[in-house]
This record gives sequence, C-alpha cells and structure tokens, in this order.
Amino acid sequence: MTAAAQPKPGDPVQLRHVRISDPFWSEYGRLIREAVIPYQYETFHDRVPGVEPGHAIRNLRIAAGLEKGEFGGFVFQDSDLAKWLEAAGHSLTTHPDPELERKVDEIIDLMAQAQQPDGYFNTYFTVKEPGKRWTNLTDCHELYVAGHLIEAAVAYYRGTGKTRLLDMMCRFADYIGDVFGSGEGKLPGYDGHQEIELALVKLYRATGQERYLRLAQYFIDQRGTDPKFFHEEWKRRGRISHWSPVPSHKAPDLPYFQSHIPVREQDQAVGHAVRAVYMYSAMADLARVNRDESLAQACRRLWHNITRRQMYITGGIGSTHHGEAFTFDYDLPNDTAYAETCASIGLIFFASRMLRLEPKAEYADVLERALYNTVLAGMARDGQHFFYVNPLEVWPEASRRNPGKHHVKPIRQGWFACACCPPNVARLLASLGEYVYTQTTDTLYTHLYIGGTAEVWLAGNKVAVAQESGLPWSGQVAIRLETNAPAPFSLALRIPDWTDGFRLTINGIPVAPSDFCIQDGYVHLARTWHSGDLVQLELPMDIRLVRAHPQVRANAGKVALVRGPLVYALEGIDHEGGPLAALVLDKSVPLAARFDPELLGGAVVIEGGALREQEDGWEDVLYSTAAKSAVPVPLRAIPYYLWGNRGESEMTVWFREH
Ligand SMILES: [Zn+2]
Repeated sequence: MTAAAQPKPGDPVQLRHVRISDPFWSEYGRLIREAVIPYQYETFHDRVPGVEPGHAIRNLRIAAGLEKGEFGGFVFQDSDLAKWLEAAGHSLTTHPDPELERKVDEIIDLMAQAQQPDGYFNTYFTVKEPGKRWTNLTDCHELYVAGHLIEAAVAYYRGTGKTRLLDMMCRFADYIGDVFGSGEGKLPGYDGHQEIELALVKLYRATGQERYLRLAQYFIDQRGTDPKFFHEEWKRRGRISHWSPVPSHKAPDLPYFQSHIPVREQDQAVGHAVRAVYMYSAMADLARVNRDESLAQACRRLWHNITRRQMYITGGIGSTHHGEAFTFDYDLPNDTAYAETCASIGLIFFASRMLRLEPKAEYADVLERALYNTVLAGMARDGQHFFYVNPLEVWPEASRRNPGKHHVKPIRQGWFACACCPPNVARLLASLGEYVYTQTTDTLYTHLYIGGTAEVWLAGNKVAVAQESGLPWSGQVAIRLETNAPAPFSLALRIPDWTDGFRLTINGIPVAPSDFCIQDGYVHLARTWHSGDLVQLELPMDIRLVRAHPQVRANAGKVALVRGPLVYALEGIDHEGGPLAALVLDKSVPLAARFDPELLGGAVVIEGGALREQEDGWEDVLYSTAAKSAVPVPLRAIPYYLWGNRGESEMTVWFREH
C-alpha cells in the first residue's frame, strides 16, 4: 500500500478528525450504533422473526463452499452487506468497538473465502450463474455491488487501519480494470446502476493509485457514447432482460440509465434518480481532481436543473414511482411522489462534492434541506422502521385503495426484502461528521451547524474547533478556537438561505461590516486568531410562508411552512373533523413557534389558525353551486421529519392560503 493521495483544497475535514456532540444529532448517532447496525447484522443472519431473510451470510457461506444451497435474494443482494460494512467502518472511526470489529472481521474472513482467484467478488454470479459474469450490466448491478464493496473497504480501512478488505477490493478493482476498457479484447461498457465511479475515486484517495482514478474516468466518459452499449449488450443477450426470459422488442430505455448521450452533454436530470445523483457525484469528484472544466460545467447544469426545477421543498427527488425516476421540469406531485430516501442521500453526496469543487452556500443549503427533512423522515425514532418513499401528501385510505398510490405508505415499514434505504441512512449518519467542514490551506468552511469538535491544520497551525449549535430549534451558534500560537487564517461561516440576516460577535464584541466579507453565501472572517477566541453567530429563525413556482400545478394557491432548516407538515391527528384539504390558512391569526416537549421527544411546533370548509348541506351531493361555509379552527404544524410517528393519519406539507 502506498501513501494516500495528498489532500487538495476543498477536501472535507476527515471523519476521524471530527466528533459530533450535539443535543439533536448525537441521538441519531447513538441510534445508528446501538439499534440500526446491530439490527441489520441480525437480518443478515436471517434471525429476525417476521422479517424476510436477508440471505447475506448464507450467500457468502455458499459462495465460499462452506455450505450447500441456493442463492437467496436479489441479484444485487451483496450491496446491502456492503453498505452495512461501510456504516460499521464509519462507526468504528468515531466510536471504537472491539465487538463490532470482531463481527466485521468474521464477515471479511468469509468474504475472503468467497472471493474468486482472479479477484472477482459477487455471490450471485458465483453461486447462481457462474459463467454469466458481465453479460448483463444493464440489469444486474455487478459493478454497482463492486462499488459498494469498495466504499466499504475504504471506510473500514480508515476506521481501523486494517488493510485486508482494502487489499481484497484492490484486487477486485484491478481485475475490473483488466476486463473493461477500449483496448483489444476489453469490454467497452459500464454499469446500469452507477456507483463504481464514485467508489473508484475513493479507492484512489485511500491508496494513491491513479489507475483507479483513470478507471472511474473511463466509466464516466464511455457512458452514452456510440454505439450504445446497453443496446449492443441486449442484442448479444438475445433481447432478454434479467427480469424476463422472454425476448422483447423493447430495447433498454437509455435515459433511464443516463446513457442516452455522453455525460458532458447532459443538462437535464433524467431517469432513475439514485443512479443519476450517484453519477453526478462521481462527475463532480473527477471534475475537481482532474480540474476538468467541461465536466464541472455539466455538473453545474445538472445541479441547476434538479434544484431549480425538479426538487421537492423537502429535498426529495424523483417525482414518479415508475422507475423511481425524475420526470420533467416542475412536475412535482405531492401525493404520488417517489422521493426515495436513497435519492436524497445521493443528492447529499452530489451537494457535498459540489462544495468541494467550489464552496457556494447553495450546495450546503440543499444538503441541509435533504438531510433535515427527507433523510430524517426516512427513519423512525426506533431505528427499525423506514420510509423508502417520502410523499408530501398522504391520505391513508388512498394508499390502501388507489393502486396508483400503493407505493405511498402512511407509516414507516419494517425491513424490506430490497433493503436499500435503511443501510444507506446508516452509512450517511455514521459519517455525518465529514459533511460539517471543508478546508483549503488557510480557510475553514463551516457548512453545517452541528455541535462537536474538529481538529484541522490551517496555514501551518493546528487548530481545535469546538462548535455548539441550537439547530434545528434555534439559530444560536458558538465556535471556540484553540491554537498553540496566534494563527492567521480565515473562518468562513455559511449564511443559510432560510435566514434574512445574521448577528456576529467575536469575544462578545460585534463584528463591524468592514471586518468581514461575504462571498458565495459565506461570511469570511480573516484575522489572526488566538486561543480561546469565541465566535458567536445568531441566525434569525423566523417562520416562513413559502410558495412554489406558478408552473408547479400541484401547489397552486398553497403555502408551506418553513422554520430554519425544517419544513413543516400538517397531520390529520392534529386537525380532526375533516380533511386537511378543507383547511385554509387564516392570516388574521399570527403564526407562532413553540417548543412542545411532549411531541415525539420534543420539537418546535408552529401554531396558528385556519378556516375549515364545512360539510353541512353536502351529505348527499357530490357537486353543488352552493357557497361553502367555513369555521375557524386551530392550525398546528409539526416538523416534516416527524410525520407518521403517531399512527396512520392524513398528512400534507402544502396547504391552501386562499
Ligand atoms: Zn433506497
């Protein structure tokens, strides 16, 4: 193993140098360590009553020749295990745990036995379809699984310093490099589900081996070129798919795989949302590492299209469950949304890489929006129930009885057979510390206001940063700096898009406008810092009434409530006596924020008034010319991420203002 690649400007402050200690977020970290990781470990061993077997360990044992039997689960089943291994690696980075490490090492032992002599690893193709490797990249996620295994190996190496899994996955990556490429006898392809690309960039960072970077670049540049690989492969296969053995006249739908045109020419987010944002993440990585401006421009265009045209206010993406996909600009239905938890996690990956490429607050604003709303909503407070789909409007009866809404669940579900989202939430939250800061040689950027400590080197000085934050309930932030000697550097603090101003003091003295500059949404404080210097930032957190672009049909005449990073939702349980659609905001009643210690562990709720349209006189008519009467009722909104935790009930983010 050679030395790791040198850090470049914009690198995140690595997880091992950040500790989260925060009244809001520490609880989530504990939940991941104490509930999610142990629970999923049990599902791998098929030991959770009432939950479909995960097959992970059994598949490994069969592939290793230690057990006889049939492969179980989906073709990409190994990826769940990989995401769990990655979460465990992150967790071990911040919270050493010999028992967890022992369990992981045991699994790595099995994996070593299941790995093929040439480096190949995939229990499906080893057990069920030997000889069919790389024959169906369109459907079978072979490189996607490889990518997750590589990410796991890098995380475990960083968390423990152990190189066994990393070495195994380097062998696998080297073998992939032998198979794919434009040379004689090589396969000029790429995967139907992007993931290997961003993983190879991580492998390059961990090992310093440029061949992994070049392979990532190959997969990105090859995608969408002529002849179209997925069509060629499909013809070679006899026009069948993994999901149907019957030949079909319908060739793979290239936009679904973001492979219709070369990626540098793409300017519209299309197709499967998770695949799209995983690919854009790798593009942003490569744009930065290789200073590739045309790739950076493509990233900016795609970012712009998503965040200005195709993103829900909650940071959800993917408007339709048909293909878990983007549809088109301004098509953002609330009640049939897909907005998969994994897609918002992928959007966070994309945002964090855009921040590394160029620190602009808009990237961190979206990152924060997706994190505090869709990602947190994705998991119940027990760490054992999850939303895959994150709608902005739910009518539980319609979820049951309208086939077009079956995918929209009114309460979080237990573990799924296709358990993509839960381990994705686990690996994101276990590595959350890595999203808080990035740095250049002399500037520390604070993107998220999350309490804890960080150790960084700035302009040759070791600096300890201790942050306290009142988010998401209040906008009070304090940052204390400790240095060995007076240290000249710049502290850049993000001013979020949800605030209209800020107050800033250093050691209790207000900072004059001449003592800072604002650039791309960050306040830059450039000065010589002394040990014990205390920066206090106050971000006013007013209740905001937000409206959508007139092209968004679904939200015409409606508003959403936002306070700080949190989007709010109304629930039926707080508004009994009629549908939420009958409520109209009563602007004569002021909206007020109040901390409610009784609500699901304590949360700030927004209270005000509404007028409810009455059903008197409508008992036996469906349509009438009669004017509707309305009565005043209390209005109460809770943070969106907490919806669906009090039993089945209607929910809506957008409600009428007229
Ligand atoms: Zn998912």
